[in-house]
Amino acid sequence: MNRFVENSLFGEDKAEKTAAGNIIKVAFESGADSLFDYLVPDKLWPVSIGQRVEAPFGKNNKLETGFCVGAEEKQPQITQIPQNKKQKAFKLKAIIDVVDKEPLVDAGLMELARWISDYYVCPLGMVLGAIVPGAVKKGAGEKKQKYVYLAVGPEKIEQTEAAIKGQKQKKIIEQLRNSNAFEPETSIEHKELLKQIGCGEIPLKNLAQKNIIKIAQRTVLRSLPAIPEGLIIKHERVILNDDQKIGLLNINSRIDEGKFGVSVLFGVTDSGKTELYIKAIEQTIKKGKTAIVMLPEIALTTQTIQRFSARFEKIAVMHSGLTGPQRNTQWHKIKKGEADVVIGARSAVFAPLTNLGLIVVDEEHESSYKQDTTPRYHGRDVAIKRAQLCNAHCILGSATPSMETLQNCKTKNTIFKMVRLPKRVMNLPFPEMRLIDMKNFSSQLMSEPLEKHLDETLSRKEQAILLLNRRGYSNFVFCPSCKHILQCRNCDVTLTFHKTKERHAAIPTITGRHMHSGMAICHYCGSQTLVPQKCPLCGKGMTMIGLGAQRLEEELNQKYPAARVARIDSDSMKGADYYRILRDFSEGKIDILAGTQILAKGLHFPNVTLVGIISADTSLYLPDFRANERTFQLISQVAGRAGRSAKKGTVFIQTFLGNQPAIQFALKGDFEGFVREELKHRYICNLPPFWRLSLITLRDQTFEKLEIASKLLREKIDEVLAGEKLQIKVRGPIQAIISRIQTFHRMQIILQAPQPSILHRLFTILRSLPPIRPAVTVTIDIDPVDLL
Ligand code: ADP
Ligand code: ZN
Repeated sequence: MNRFVENSLFGEDKAEKTAAGNIIKVAFESGADSLFDYLVPDKLWPVSIGQRVEAPFGKNNKLETGFCVGAEEKQPQITQIPQNKKQKAFKLKAIIDVVDKEPLVDAGLMELARWISDYYVCPLGMVLGAIVPGAVKKGAGEKKQKYVYLAVGPEKIEQTEAAIKGQKQKKIIEQLRNSNAFEPETSIEHKELLKQIGCGEIPLKNLAQKNIIKIAQRTVLRSLPAIPEGLIIKHERVILNDDQKIGLLNINSRIDEGKFGVSVLFGVTDSGKTELYIKAIEQTIKKGKTAIVMLPEIALTTQTIQRFSARFEKIAVMHSGLTGPQRNTQWHKIKKGEADVVIGARSAVFAPLTNLGLIVVDEEHESSYKQDTTPRYHGRDVAIKRAQLCNAHCILGSATPSMETLQNCKTKNTIFKMVRLPKRVMNLPFPEMRLIDMKNFSSQLMSEPLEKHLDETLSRKEQAILLLNRRGYSNFVFCPSCKHILQCRNCDVTLTFHKTKERHAAIPTITGRHMHSGMAICHYCGSQTLVPQKCPLCGKGMTMIGLGAQRLEEELNQKYPAARVARIDSDSMKGADYYRILRDFSEGKIDILAGTQILAKGLHFPNVTLVGIISADTSLYLPDFRANERTFQLISQVAGRAGRSAKKGTVFIQTFLGNQPAIQFALKGDFEGFVREELKHRYICNLPPFWRLSLITLRDQTFEKLEIASKLLREKIDEVLAGEKLQIKVRGPIQAIISRIQTFHRMQIILQAPQPSILHRLFTILRSLPPIRPAVTVTIDIDPVDLL
């Protein structure tokens, strides 16, 4: 596809050209799906690919920042006749500034960005905007610093003596000579020099005027460590067990080949996968290459980072617990080649490493690798693509590999090879799994057997993790008399009750035991409403039903007053906070950790012997084709959190749906059985991993307009399919499951095709057509992780 002349689904016409001079192609971060030609004035030339420029954009010539994505020197005069527009030639606009000294994106990442833009149907400028961290673009923590050096060489410095007036000036020159400050590299900081001499700025200015010294300015970034200090992890020599040895041999031989390939490291929790990642990285570094390790955000705790930093010297980290200046420092450290291992979350896949030899994606099945804003890329899939583009090896590790990855091992078996670690290291026993049928305890949060076990765990001074997949205090607030449920004004969802410290309102729980004050909050738009004491429809009292992590925390505090309880969910957690709680938990300062599913991911706490899933059903009720897979993964991962040492672990699974296959297979730890069962359904319904999905979501505040636009888009799709004879099943437009968010109505069109290339063909054509009218917001999600 010739990206230089494309028009778009997203609107925006491109400038036509009639000019001579240096011309560059600019991709704007604000999201126009075209590239624009700009003239570069001689004084700003050269501009390299990957640098940002500032340029007037659109009818009003608003100044915008964009990435240079193509540059060519001095072109002969050309006059292009614009094609579909009025037959009038436009004069090419000129950029007004170059923002970056060095390109922020190198050729390899540029190629990756183009692939993402093409595959995920996203404007190139937005992709580039996401590849470079905001902290880097803003220059977080950078300071301007003035510095001073001699403008005359050592051989001529004597001849300037006549021009030097007064003691102060003499001292300055002496000081600079003593420090050998003849070059910018050996210069002395302005402030520092003034302090050493004990003078004001005037003598310096005089010397600069006479061209004896130079005062210049540079940007400095204070080095901010991002590797947590404290806890020293002993680096014990690990002797690999037989399974690990065979696995490593396999992986290393593929690393040695120096060709693209993927090893799927399939091993239960605690089977020693991380140890193999470390060994494979060592092998990569030995070959003079660099490596990226990607982990789900929550797993990037102090422990993991310290475990890696105990083994590698030149390491950089990228995760949301860092401050802006820290992120900026880490990025520059990588860019300068001072790191050979980068460990981070989803966006670490864009680490500006050169000579990349290995990318590790831990917990590859995690849906959090999919970004839920544009560009809607999947971190794992981009990792595989990046590895392919630079002939690197890729390791996908998981205890429950995704259906997609398992299928790749079957159908692309020259590239995807499975390596198995079937046993826990040191043959630790698996935890005991206990299913609790909640029919017998229906009004309770915790069943008696779980409460009793928690008591015993605490008295043994061991720790527990309790999981409740719901934020807030209760699911919803409703009126028992008229069944009215509090709904969000802006979204098609019920509100969740959150307790607050202030006394706004008091309403009883369903058991009528306690009184609470709080707000009803929408988890989609964040809007908050005071909870009414009386039902707005019938005037009777309101009550709450369902469970939330906040209520769980409160109940734990009441029932176990001596225990130290903490809660982790996205309501209470902002960046660094949850790293702190996890650290406290690992240091034994917390006894019970309660929270939402983020707790299930990749944590390692040897003293945790009890894990309770308060309700295994929440994810099963979701009307989504991955509900079973999610439930299985959740249970088996949670199970992995218990008993990570010689102490015996127990897992409680509370459920009303004990007979569901996902729960039954998880209980037995029978992954293969679950996969067989699940794949049957996916096959019959033409779902991934057999077919591919794309989801188009249209949004607008006016429902009628949205309906018209959605129908028009469907018609357009049908036309393309008929013309091109593409095998695509189209569903919709239908109302999205959450039919309104933030006052925007939502319609969806779901596309299914046996190969991704077929969907890609459709989107390429749609992208080249004029945008639909009436204009509504259209988002395209390629390989969506859910259809909500
Ligand atoms: P996973 O990533 O599969 O959960 P890890 O690599 O974290 O497994 O290993 C679990 C624990 O066992 C870690 O504490 C690790 O240091 C230890 N370990 C791993 N391999 C060995 C081995 N061969 N011998 C002794 N201890 C090991
Ligand atoms: Zn809302």
